[in-house]
Amino acid sequence: MQTKASVDTVSGTKVTVVGVGQVGISIAFSIMTQGIASEMTLVDVMEDKLKGELMDLQHGLTFLDNMKITAGSDYALSAGSKLCIVTAGAQMREGESRLDLDQRNTNILKDIIPKLVQYSPDTILLIVSDPVDLLAYVAWKLSGLPKERVIGSGTNVDSSRFRFLLSERFDVAPTSIHGWIIGEHGDSSVPVWSGVDVAGVRLRDLNPAAGTSEDTENWNSIHRQVIQSAYEIIRLKGYPSWAMALSVSVLTRAILNNTRNVYAVSTFVEGIHGVQYPVFLSVPCVLGENGITDVIQQTLTEDERTQFQKSAATLNEVQSNLVF
Ligand code: NAD
Repeated sequence: MQTKASVDTVSGTKVTVVGVGQVGISIAFSIMTQGIASEMTLVDVMEDKLKGELMDLQHGLTFLDNMKITAGSDYALSAGSKLCIVTAGAQMREGESRLDLDQRNTNILKDIIPKLVQYSPDTILLIVSDPVDLLAYVAWKLSGLPKERVIGSGTNVDSSRFRFLLSERFDVAPTSIHGWIIGEHGDSSVPVWSGVDVAGVRLRDLNPAAGTSEDTENWNSIHRQVIQSAYEIIRLKGYPSWAMALSVSVLTRAILNNTRNVYAVSTFVEGIHGVQYPVFLSVPCVLGENGITDVIQQTLTEDERTQFQKSAATLNEVQSNLVF
């Protein structure tokens, strides 16, 4: 081969995934198969597993658009990343609440975040490790990055589960149902029933009590199913991965392609919906190449606002007891 021109070593669409457990490797696979990034680096502490996953992914490249994939425990490999996705963490144990994982995962972020920012000072951080809202806050504090560049994967996947379950009841495709779950990713998430619609026809216009305790059609059982989903998947197969991987890959696409799509992700919400604490919670956000450019402030019912504020107060209390 005769070389005609040099090849750029830093790509505008480079992604690093830290943590190649069940969730991290599913995200990497999803990004790879969708041709979203031109370069991807995988980082973990388990060298052999990394090497095996790297080989396995690379051997599939002949079937896809080409991309460069590297892997190792040295963060120098992540240099020049436009986006760093963090899925490293201790896994939720059966019966364990997400908030119980806080200090164990905070300690892991103390190790990871400064190194990512050292090699990619202008990166956008996308935190997936649980408890995601708390850890997005911790990552923001540890990174020194502007708040619009630190994002938690938040309730994007909860909203997807919600839309899927609604779609089964309406018998239309999940993409044709609009509905949002905001607030904490987990047990205290808030379903915005006032925003559920198909083609602009609002569920609340058909049934004004939908989602409330007076509702005879029991729509709120769908929200309870959303909350139970993660626990149920862990009980049945050990870990949730595929929906999460797709959820994160669409967020990745929005950032790398500057699409300005709106997704429910975890962001700094002090001052939003009456929150008085410096916490991260999910609200619909516009995503693009600079991270979160705008937050969509939905018109919430008094009950929805109260639930959102309650999650903020709980998170703030846990946050103030963290050591980092
Ligand atoms: P896993 O145990 O399979 O993988 C975790 C990986 O992190 C392991 O490969 C481990 O070696 C790595 N790791 C640990 N410490 C590290 C460090 N200091 N540096 C680099 N790598 C390190 O777990 P999983 O099922 O892939 O889940 C990962 C995280 O994602 C967990 O916190 C889990 O609770 C969370 N999760 C979040 C969501 C969500 O919706 N936000 C959904 C599913 C899982």
